[in-house]
Amino acid sequence: MKVIIVGCTHAGTAAANQILAAHPETEVTIYERNDNLSFLSCGIALYLGGEVKDPQGLFYSSPETLAKLGAEVHMQHDVTEIDSENKEIKVTDLVTGEKKTDSYDKLIVTTGSWPVIPPIEGINGDHVYLCKNYDHAKKLFENAKKSKKIVVIGGGYIGVELVEAYNKQHHDVTLVDGLPRMLSKYFDEEYTNRLAKTFEDNGVNIQLDQMVTGFKDTGNGVTVETNRGSYDADMAILCIGFRPNTKLFEGIVDMNKDGSIKTNDYMQTSNPDIYGAGDSVAVHYNPTKKDAYIPLATNAVRQGTLAGINIFAPTIKYMGTQSSSGLKLYGKTLVSSGMTLEHAKSEGFDADSVTVEDNYRPEFMPSTTPILMTLVWDKATRKILGAQFMSDYDVSQSANTISVCIQNENTIDFLAFVDMLFQPQFDRPFNYLNILAQAAVAKSN
Ligand SMILES: Cc1cc2nc3c(=O)[nH]c(=O)nc-3n(C[C@H](O)[C@H](O)[C@H](O)COP(=O)(O)OP(=O)(O)OC[C@H]3O[C@@H](n4cnc5c(N)ncnc54)[C@H](O)[C@@H]3O)c2cc1C
Repeated sequence: MKVIIVGCTHAGTAAANQILAAHPETEVTIYERNDNLSFLSCGIALYLGGEVKDPQGLFYSSPETLAKLGAEVHMQHDVTEIDSENKEIKVTDLVTGEKKTDSYDKLIVTTGSWPVIPPIEGINGDHVYLCKNYDHAKKLFENAKKSKKIVVIGGGYIGVELVEAYNKQHHDVTLVDGLPRMLSKYFDEEYTNRLAKTFEDNGVNIQLDQMVTGFKDTGNGVTVETNRGSYDADMAILCIGFRPNTKLFEGIVDMNKDGSIKTNDYMQTSNPDIYGAGDSVAVHYNPTKKDAYIPLATNAVRQGTLAGINIFAPTIKYMGTQSSSGLKLYGKTLVSSGMTLEHAKSEGFDADSVTVEDNYRPEFMPSTTPILMTLVWDKATRKILGAQFMSDYDVSQSANTISVCIQNENTIDFLAFVDMLFQPQFDRPFNYLNILAQAAVAKSN
């Protein structure tokens, strides 16, 4: 069988690794537009903030590695056309300009996503930057060396990580966001207010609840104009979200309105010979049981691997996502899984939530520290819909536990008494997750 993989970051690399490990006889041809593959964008902020010294460490594979496994790897090649009837694609070599046609038995679409760039005056100016891939990371790193003032637009996960990174490197950083709270999709006000205070205590200028209306080039910098003010910068960085990069497949496979490709549980698109994975496809969001667009590496690697398994026969189903995610800012761990109360209500759930703050382990220990934690549940079924955690203690794995609870449709009553280890080094006789769920049970009875 001949498989063509279009695009090779996380989903593409995962699919190639899977196919070549389990079916080494398969002819795998990879076309990737960039000159690198498998770059971990999640490390960009760590690199800009000085925690990761060598960005080469942010690659976990390479064209040579995949070639050694048996793939035919074409870097700096752009796939420009798909002829699904004849199972052919057209490709341009971006170095020589040479064009060619290739054919497949199965095609895997892993073309990912691209940053949202709204039609705002001046947005394509020289001092406005994107943050997605290795090229962007290099530019953000190099240009920051000669920049003092940096404006980050967008207070989602990526924006706040960049703000912290540049702030730690002693830049004057302003965060601009259209919503009244940063990270409002993931965390309640209690969390984001504390976080905003931490940013401000560290000298970050937080400018929320205002929309960017224009970028004015000043020659050696840019003025970011909003409906409530203007901010001078040497660099302005757009972090306002991502869109599926799927134009190439319009009219070829079924898509959602947002451009994400629809797949079945086996990552197969509406065309049985075309599979999709990663940021180019929609995910199944278990808390609402609906499809959604949630571009995360966690989905990309799982879906890429499954596409690599299922092209041979429908074998393992994608089990969906809770959109579990985490951040570390100024030493604090912030993690979440599933929905906030606001989100749950907007989805029509008659939901409730409880917030508890408690030390993670007993006070007789030489040290302990509080965890701020929130649980969201559906009042009718008592099923867990989401949770948030914030602490100086590493609570990241608690979001994973909640993710499993949501996946398995566990109730607050289950989490209140499910067996969890106790040892004073780690927790109290009741683990903090039991305590949180017991508070939910008390509130709901
Ligand atoms: C700054 C940042 C931080 C992030 N942090 C996290 C994190 O902490 N945790 C997490 O889970 N996720 C994180 N993400 C999201 C994660 O990086 C993405 O979900 C992931 O990269 C998706 O992988 P993908 O392979 O589906 O798509 P992409 O990474 O978008 O890769 C698609 C590839 O396809 C290639 N391509 C596209 N079209 C063509 C074509 N026509 N021909 C040839 N090649 C083509 C592109 O060049 C690209 O290499 C972060 C993203 C960013 C930008």
